[in-house]
Amino acid sequence: MAKFLSIKDYSEIFNKLRAVKNGKELDVFKRRISKQFGAPLISNFQLLKVYHKSLKAKSAKRDKNIENLLKMRPIRSMSGVVNISVLTKEYPCPGKCLYCPKEKGIPKSYLSGEPAVERAKMLKFSPYRQTKERIESLEMEGHEPEKIEARIVGGTWSYYPKNYQIQFIKKIYDAANDRTGKNLTAAQKSNETAKHRIVALSVETRPDYINEDEIICLRNFGVTKVELGVQSIYNDVLDFVMRGHTAEKTVEASRLLKDAGFKLSYQMMLNLPKSSAERDFEMFEQIFGNADFKPDYLKIYPLALLREAPLYHLYKNNRFKIYSEDELIDLIRKIKKITPYWTRIERVIRDIPAHKIFEGGVKTSNLRQVIHDQADGLNAICRCIRCREIKAKYNPDEKFHLFRQDYEASSGREIFLSFESKDREKLASFLRLRIPSQYFNGQKYFLKVLQNSAVIREIKSVGVLTPVGQIKRAPQHKGFGRKLLETAENIVRKEFTLEKIAAIAAIGARQYFRKNGYKLKDTYMVKDLG
Ligand code: SF4
Ligand SMILES: [Zn+2]
Repeated sequence: MAKFLSIKDYSEIFNKLRAVKNGKELDVFKRRISKQFGAPLISNFQLLKVYHKSLKAKSAKRDKNIENLLKMRPIRSMSGVVNISVLTKEYPCPGKCLYCPKEKGIPKSYLSGEPAVERAKMLKFSPYRQTKERIESLEMEGHEPEKIEARIVGGTWSYYPKNYQIQFIKKIYDAANDRTGKNLTAAQKSNETAKHRIVALSVETRPDYINEDEIICLRNFGVTKVELGVQSIYNDVLDFVMRGHTAEKTVEASRLLKDAGFKLSYQMMLNLPKSSAERDFEMFEQIFGNADFKPDYLKIYPLALLREAPLYHLYKNNRFKIYSEDELIDLIRKIKKITPYWTRIERVIRDIPAHKIFEGGVKTSNLRQVIHDQADGLNAICRCIRCREIKAKYNPDEKFHLFRQDYEASSGREIFLSFESKDREKLASFLRLRIPSQYFNGQKYFLKVLQNSAVIREIKSVGVLTPVGQIKRAPQHKGFGRKLLETAENIVRKEFTLEKIAAIAAIGARQYFRKNGYKLKDTYMVKDLG
């Protein structure tokens, strides 16, 4: 008969747990202990919960080995930061896109049943509670979410009222700081040295909502990355699905965002009406090869035909066809094959609950895995950043080499610097340096702080999350970051007639740049190169 375990039982279990060395031993241990106590198989989560309770009650001492052993879903913190998505409340969107679903009570384009949506609904869309709860549950799972990449999702961010935006962002910082700031600026200031630092902040918006004023506004919020709903670069397709803007708007927004240092992500949609698998593939050849586009990040969403979206009726009337799963997999593999080293494919499908997708749409929610499983080895088909990130494969004895790749993008020059294994199969660290378009066209820049400046758009080390001040066998603290910064500074000094270098640091990353001789000017961290 299954027995309910008391705190005393757990403390006995913990004492024995100290002798367990690895995951394999842990499995054996859990089975043995469950049998001994006549309880159903104990999960890591149960053990962690009681561990944290015992710590609070001071009946157990902190044990790093136990925490590491019980760490759940370690992949979540392997890219160097933990991700937290925060959903905005329901609000009208200026778009009328035919494929976009609308459900009462949640922002347009989102659906109930998606994990982030369900969480947000439960927490009444409070940005504070969404952030706080995620931090707490990550800690409960054994992670140390000291570096947070916060993602604001839902509808078109730029269309929300300014006051709502300010409060929304402030509450995210408040939750990370564990205290309420007097105003947004105060909350940001606290976050510079807080335990949970926001080291990246992104929003989703439409290309036609990006202009100089919006850029200034995003910078004041501490935003460092923008996800643009691009969907297609074909004007006939955009027109047909009533996207409400042209591809030229995407080109313009890309330049404005990159020149201001933002990391740029494109959300692209496959299988829209008027396109075809061939046209979709050509679209990606353009996106990677045409300097007007070249995003840093990509989300590829095959059309998921939802009854809640107007496009469903066109499909019912035979106005277009849905690709078969085989066709789609073949297309995505071809796209992956031509993805450059400096792009990161973040997703290849949305988290839409399968029952919501009308027959004919893709139901395989682990499409990425299916594609990779069919390839001979992970890297045989995709050279994107994500597929090469070393994650737990890091071996401090392996030699990493500095690579430099220059490419023209959005009327400027991008210089992608990275530390990678010799064969470029494993990537440990990278930096995106931009020589902005105004350097080449001689125009005055609307952001005074960036006049005559090169821009560091991103610097990142990938691997197991390493809490600040705690050195682990991970690349974050191997000095790659410092070397990349020095290399970037030297390139600007020697090859360009620019006075300074400015980094678009998120609030929680400012200290890192201060340590490297950068000073806060306006919303950027700047170093004079004189
Ligand atoms: S802009 Fe985005 S949220 Fe708005 S209707 Fe179009 S797809 Fe939906
Ligand atoms: Zn990839």
